[in-house]
Amino acid sequence: MNRTSRATLSVLMVFTLQCLPSLAQRRAAKRPAPPKSVSERSYERARRVLDAGVAALGGVEAMRESGDVWVDVKGYSYARNQSVRVNAPYDAMTRDETLYIDVRNRRYIVETRDPLPGGFVFGGKQVISGGQGFFVNPRDRTINPLNLQNFNNIGIVRRVPHLFLLAAFENAPSTLRWLGEEVYDGRRHNVLTFASSNGIAWTLFFDARTNLLTKYEQMVSDSLSGDSVQETVFPGYRMVGKIKVPTARLTRRAGELIEDVKYTNVRFNTRPPESAFAKPEGFEELPQPSPPAIKETKLGEGVYLFESAANALVVEFKDYVLIVEPYVGGRGPKPTINKAREMFPGKPVRYVVITHHHDDHSGGLRSYIAEGVSIVTTPANQGYFERMAAGTFTIAPDDQARAPRKPTFEFVPGGGKRVFTDGVQTIEVIDIGPSPHVTEMLVVYLPKEKLVFQGDLVNLPASGKYAATTVNETTVHFVEWLNRTSLDVRRIAAVHGPSTTLEELRAAVAKSKAAK
Ligand SMILES: [Zn+2]
Repeated sequence: MNRTSRATLSVLMVFTLQCLPSLAQRRAAKRPAPPKSVSERSYERARRVLDAGVAALGGVEAMRESGDVWVDVKGYSYARNQSVRVNAPYDAMTRDETLYIDVRNRRYIVETRDPLPGGFVFGGKQVISGGQGFFVNPRDRTINPLNLQNFNNIGIVRRVPHLFLLAAFENAPSTLRWLGEEVYDGRRHNVLTFASSNGIAWTLFFDARTNLLTKYEQMVSDSLSGDSVQETVFPGYRMVGKIKVPTARLTRRAGELIEDVKYTNVRFNTRPPESAFAKPEGFEELPQPSPPAIKETKLGEGVYLFESAANALVVEFKDYVLIVEPYVGGRGPKPTINKAREMFPGKPVRYVVITHHHDDHSGGLRSYIAEGVSIVTTPANQGYFERMAAGTFTIAPDDQARAPRKPTFEFVPGGGKRVFTDGVQTIEVIDIGPSPHVTEMLVVYLPKEKLVFQGDLVNLPASGKYAATTVNETTVHFVEWLNRTSLDVRRIAAVHGPSTTLEELRAAVAKSKAAK
C-alpha cells in the first residue's frame, strides 16, 4: 500500500466514521417506526389494566409469596334447569365448598357438599397431588380415580381472584386484549380478555376507579337459552395478610342467578399435613371406569335400549318409530335418530317422549324438533320447550339452528296416561307425578315385556349393584307408585345406568328403610 492509497484510506475511514451515524439518522428520519398494529395497542392497554388489577389485589410479589390458600365458601346454589318445577323461582340448595390451592406444587383439594331436591346428594372430595387425583364419595364410601388427562387448574383458581389474575399475568400474557369500557353496576369498568390454555376466553371487568376485579364472564352454549353469558361477580373484598380476597361470589347464567355464596374463611400458607392428601381408610377403591359401550340391546319385539353414557328406548310401530328420551349426553340425539332410521328403514321417527324437563334429559330435544318429531310431554313443559326451540345456537350449532321449526306437542294429561298402539305394539306413557324429583314425571310401560323405562327414579351405579345412596326419597316414591298401580312389572330399565328387576328394587328399598 503506497502513501497515497494509505491517505485515501484514512480519509475514507474518517469519512465513514463521521458519516455512519448521520446516515443512520437520516435513514431513521426517512423511515419512522412502523405504526403499532391493533394487536399491539390492544395488548398494551390490556396489560396496563391487568397490571393495575394485580397491584390493587396486593401486587405480584405478595401473590407469589402467599403460598398455598385455604378457602371456605358457604351459601346457596339455584337449580336452574334442574328444579322440581319447570319455571322460576328455582329450588335453592345449600352450597358448601372448601378449596385448597397450592399452584406451585400443583396440589389441589376441592370439597363440596351439594344436596339436590328429591333426596339426591352430590359432592365429595377431589384430591389432586403429584399428577395423581382421586374423588372420595363419603356417602357410598368409595374412592374413584380422577382422569387428569384434560385437567386445567383454571377451573379451580378462577374462584380466587388473585390466583385467577396471576394465571393471566404469568401463563397467558400474550393473549391479553383490551375489549373496551363498560358501565356495570353503575360504575365504569375497564374490560380485557385473556385465554386460558384450555381454550376458554375470559372477559375481565376491572372497576376503573379502584382497579379491583368486579367480575368475569365466559360465553357458553346453554341447553335452554343457546348462546349465553355466564358471569361470576365478586361484589366486595377484604384484606387477609397482604392480599385482597373476595367476600362473596355470585354466578349468573343467561341472566339467571345460579349461585350466591360468601367466602367465610380464607387463610394463606397453611401447609396442611400429608394426611390431607391421603386416601381415607376403609373406603372401597373403584377402578377407572371404562367408556360405556355404544350398543343396541333388544328388550322385546321391536323394542331396543340404545345404550351409551345415557340410554334411550326405541320402539318400532307399524308405520313409525317412537323414541323415549332425547338425552343430550351419551351418543347424542342425531346419532340416535340416524341409527333408528338405519334399523327401521322407511319408518319415520314420529314421537319423542321426554321423561322430565331437566336439561340433561331434554337437552337433545332441538335435534328432534328440527326433524319435525312430535314432543310427548306434560302440559306444564310446553313453554320451556318452546323457549329451547327458539334459542340462538351459533356456538353449538345444530339442525334447529340451520333450519328452525316450530315444535309440535302431544300432551299426557297431568297424573294421566297416553297409550300408543298399532294393535300389535303397545306402550303406555304415564305421569307418576308429583314426584319429589319433579312435579310432572313420565315413565313408559311396556305391557308385553312387563318393563318400565324411567329417568332419575332409579339410577344404579355402573356396577349394577345397589350402593348405599341408590335408594333416595325419589326412588321410594316411585316404588310406592308401582305398588299402587295394577301394572304387571318385572324389569325396570333406566336412562342412567343398568337395568334392575322390581324384586331387586323392592329389596333395596326395604334394606334402606331398615337401615334408617
Ligand atoms: Zn332429573
